[in-house]
Amino acid sequence: MLFPEKQDLEIGQHYAPEIEKELGGKIEDEDLQKYIDRVGQKIARISHRPDWEYHYVAVNDKSINASALPGGYIFITKGMLEKLQSEAQLAAILAHETAHVVARDTSNAISNQIGIGLLLAAATSGQASGAVMTAAELSRRIIGLRYSRQDEREADIAGLDYMIVAGYNPYGIIETMQMLEEQRKETVVEFLSSHPPPANRIAYLSQRIKTKIHDLDGLNIGKQQYSKTVLDRLITRD
Ligand SMILES: [Zn+2]
Repeated sequence: MLFPEKQDLEIGQHYAPEIEKELGGKIEDEDLQKYIDRVGQKIARISHRPDWEYHYVAVNDKSINASALPGGYIFITKGMLEKLQSEAQLAAILAHETAHVVARDTSNAISNQIGIGLLLAAATSGQASGAVMTAAELSRRIIGLRYSRQDEREADIAGLDYMIVAGYNPYGIIETMQMLEEQRKETVVEFLSSHPPPANRIAYLSQRIKTKIHDLDGLNIGKQQYSKTVLDRLITRD
């Protein structure tokens, strides 16, 4: 059973700091964080739930991943940021995760795969009683949540539509899927262990782009901006 919407925020607020910690902590770079959040907010404001509060945070984890918490908390890893090449590609990932939040897929998955009772008990007592599970263990389970194929497809489609309305070149999502597919040949891609394989997603996304967009002129790619604000800064930090 799905829990009430107001509990989304409670869970989000409680577990966001834990998940942040679990993912290596926030990247200590205010300009980079502001940029990620600015791109995320552009998406959030034109989403189906523009009234909610959203937080987009870049974390130090080296895995190639992004994940969402109920209540509008969205995390993207350093490993993912390093593989992206433009603002449109960043927007693609953030839009997909935002779509999961909007559809309350995360809330649903928590209900089914963890159990809201356990989560709230842990949130209020600091630790789950009985079958003791620490906040860190629960956070790992939240990061590892799986969505159904149908949820993924809907998040892909909604995310694509959000990108377009927010003014981004929608091929950013296709390029990102291709990158993930390439990466998968060499390494474990965390983002894909919780998502369907890219090939068929590329097919339905390309199809939708062709029916929705006839003129790509004026749509933002933001390659230079992304290099300057994300890639260059990550390299300097290493
Ligand atoms: Zn997804």
